[in-house]
Amino acid sequence: MTRIPKSHPRYWSLLYREKLVEGLEKGMTAVEGLIAHGRGEAFDYLIGERTIEPAERAMRAAVAAFLLAKHPVVSVNGNVAALVPEETVRLAKALNAKLEINLFYRTEERVKAIERELRKYGAEEILGINPTRRIPGLEHERGRVDENGIWKADVVLVPLEDGDRTEALVRMGKLVVTVDLNPLSRSARRANITVVDNVVRAYPRMTELAEEMRKLGRDELEGILRDYDNRLTLSDVLIHIRDRLGKLAEEGLPD
Ligand code: ATP
Ligand code: MG
Repeated sequence: MTRIPKSHPRYWSLLYREKLVEGLEKGMTAVEGLIAHGRGEAFDYLIGERTIEPAERAMRAAVAAFLLAKHPVVSVNGNVAALVPEETVRLAKALNAKLEINLFYRTEERVKAIERELRKYGAEEILGINPTRRIPGLEHERGRVDENGIWKADVVLVPLEDGDRTEALVRMGKLVVTVDLNPLSRSARRANITVVDNVVRAYPRMTELAEEMRKLGRDELEGILRDYDNRLTLSDVLIHIRDRLGKLAEEGLPD
């Protein structure tokens, strides 16, 4: 599919941009989603475009929470459907979680296009097609959720999510996990567990962790969750960025 030469030094970054443009053309992704991706890319540059230790720590806690959950739900939006559709289906299966399409800029066409894409990769049950409930505190379209999905979920994964919605879900008493490259965003600060990593790296890693950690007992999983501190994780991300930039400033930028 790609028109990008593999030899280009920014091949991966360009490839994911192209995937988003394709998501737009397929009717899955909102134009605003492209802007959100650009903001994510900027933070990925600062982090060093790799999975850092605080993200690994958050992923372990997130997987523990999912494996302990009664009604776990993985939410899908237009950017995620464009970037990692197959990985989303795999992750939800590994976590034994339901999939729910949940859009900030909801239109029926976008929901259908995303549903089609997820089915291509083997998704069976997909929620969020006819959401009948509403998250308290959010106005009409933005707050619509599935009665059997996010509405009754105890643990939810809402990647690349808007801060206001993250906050509303936390207020409903759910354990909220987000994946967000910006450690300063409201979502990152409001969620219970924040994975500061690119979703394209985080999802395959979380799937691996789910397969490993499934062998652990409930008490071990509870221990991992209990020992996790999201404030500390976010400050460790900022320390990582500060130290990295400090080093680059002193040593001179690499070629
Ligand atoms: P908030 O509402 O939480 O304060 P925001 O308004 O800055 O955040 P939104 O557009 O609401 O941004 O949310 C999208 C978030 O997703 C941004 O914080 C952005 O950094 C992040 N993001 C974009 N692309 C990716 C990606 N590929 N992987 C992980 N995070 C990403
Ligand atoms: Mg926002």
